[in-house]
Amino acid sequence: MNKKCYYEILGVQKTASNDEIKKSYRKLALKYHPDKNPDDKNAEEKFKEASEAYGVLSDGDKRKKYDQFGHSGMQGGFDYQEFSDLGDIFSSFGDVFSDLFGNRRTRKTHKTGLTPQRGHDLVQNIQITLKESYLGCKKDLLIYHYSKCETCHGQGTKPGTKPEKCTQCKGSGKMYFSQGFFSFAQSCSTCSGEGFKITYPCQDCNGQSRIQKRDKFTISIPAGIENSSELRVRDKGDSGIYGGSNGDLYLRVSVLENNKFWRQGNDLLSTLNLTYPQLVLGCKVEIENIDKQKINIKIPKGCPVGKKILIIGKGFETTRSYGKGNLVIITECNIPKKLDTETKESLLNYAKKLGNQTGGISGFFKKFLG
Ligand SMILES: [Zn+2]
Ligand SMILES: [Zn+2]
Repeated sequence: MNKKCYYEILGVQKTASNDEIKKSYRKLALKYHPDKNPDDKNAEEKFKEASEAYGVLSDGDKRKKYDQFGHSGMQGGFDYQEFSDLGDIFSSFGDVFSDLFGNRRTRKTHKTGLTPQRGHDLVQNIQITLKESYLGCKKDLLIYHYSKCETCHGQGTKPGTKPEKCTQCKGSGKMYFSQGFFSFAQSCSTCSGEGFKITYPCQDCNGQSRIQKRDKFTISIPAGIENSSELRVRDKGDSGIYGGSNGDLYLRVSVLENNKFWRQGNDLLSTLNLTYPQLVLGCKVEIENIDKQKINIKIPKGCPVGKKILIIGKGFETTRSYGKGNLVIITECNIPKKLDTETKESLLNYAKKLGNQTGGISGFFKKFLG
């Protein structure tokens, strides 16, 4: 075989640097690119020739061997590439071409397997009572999600095997095509752009590296959590693929209404039903907080209805620095629906007295009491 010298083909000196070799190859590739020379067999040959030369000279080891032994050294079982198919050239030197046509140089990745992918974040709604939000609570969650396959430890491969390089794209994950003047890359369809494929999939997860299942775990909900807040539970979303990290679980917390207490800001509010004499004369009463704790409060003399009595620091915990909210007791007056005769009479007397005091509206009471 009478082969032309690779250095001659590329038109560079034997001492040429890698950069010079690449530059020269790019120049030739541009000149003899098949898209620029349609149906020109000569140009196509030149293009293949230059690619073969570049294949050897751009590779340190191959170049050394070639320098030492020439073409005969290459043929002694050494894997130089004689290109018969243009697609192979684009696959092998795709980065040179993408560079050539103004694309950003694709970063060389040293992949050893399938691309790890982070699992999805998941969202789940959870309802808690107002008391639980006041005290904080622990909740058992049952969640249906992707979980790492234990059999293959999230690798997707049958134990004892490894992913194999895709033969179609030689592990690059890309196939290079040319259209018009441009060459472009497309994901390899054989391996879906992974560059690797699982030849022997794990039987439990069918090579997916994870399985869908129900998982149960307990989470802590902090005291003071507000209605409609979102809690992030790290790593409890979908498990990652092929060793990727787990997604997170977002819990949307709804706080149920309570029939006695409600929340306003960080304050816990409730009403307290008192009798008219209690309000007028003042008193001490024991109330029960939402957490069943007993608290003694003092109602001052002449307390109006709707007065807010603060019990400092007995409201909700806050995540912010300025302490807890307060418990706010709002006074109400207990109006009895039925009265015994004696009480009715004394109340009537009192009303008459009150009527006289306020002056001239006794007719008002008559109307009411019949
Ligand atoms: Zn598996
Ligand atoms: Zn492939």
